[in-house]
Amino acid sequence: MTVGSCATGSRESGQDRKVAAFSGLARVPQIAWPSPHPAGTCDAHPGRVRERPNRHAWKACEVQASVGSNPTPSAMSDHDIHEVAMQAALEQARDALNHDDVPVGAVVLHEGKIIAARHNERENYQDPTAHAEVLALQDAAKHLGRWRLQDCTLVVTLEPCVMCAGALLNARIGSLVYGAADLKGGATASLYNVSADPRLNHNFPVTHGVLAAESTTLLEQFFASRR
Ligand SMILES: [Zn+2]
Repeated sequence: MTVGSCATGSRESGQDRKVAAFSGLARVPQIAWPSPHPAGTCDAHPGRVRERPNRHAWKACEVQASVGSNPTPSAMSDHDIHEVAMQAALEQARDALNHDDVPVGAVVLHEGKIIAARHNERENYQDPTAHAEVLALQDAAKHLGRWRLQDCTLVVTLEPCVMCAGALLNARIGSLVYGAADLKGGATASLYNVSADPRLNHNFPVTHGVLAAESTTLLEQFFASRR
């Protein structure tokens, strides 16, 4: 697992602190969970591609297709799969810049395939709930025809907020992978840990720090451009 750099410890106020909060992992407890569940418990329809009418259309795609010479998902480690999926999530995050949204992207993996890919559209829709994770979960549920996503992994460029962590919980998500820690709002390690609270009716494993530097750079550039 790639672990991001630590927070800068900046003493500046305002935006500087905001940027610093995105700049990597704090000394937060890493959840001692096993690697994501085994695949193959799904009732989905592999290969089915759903067309969306809007300009944010996505297509189901073979994750393994863009990874080196590995011919099959089984030849890829979880680490490889997570990095490929995170690259797709980063691509989504960059798309958010087209409508001046904070660049955060998310994809949902199911049986080695990306079945949903979305980015933050809060500004675009003027919708406070239009975070990348929520939109991706909605698309994944529609794609699979069910709200339980226990055999899916959500891969997101930034640690989920309280709302999105709650959505993951309610989706019974199989596992979560994220890039940069959000020290000011993260709800799966940094401020709260919804993923491992024994009082809740569902817990899920979390892998963090995957391509965290790339995610942090995107966020830093975005906030710097707004100063
Ligand atoms: Zn969120």
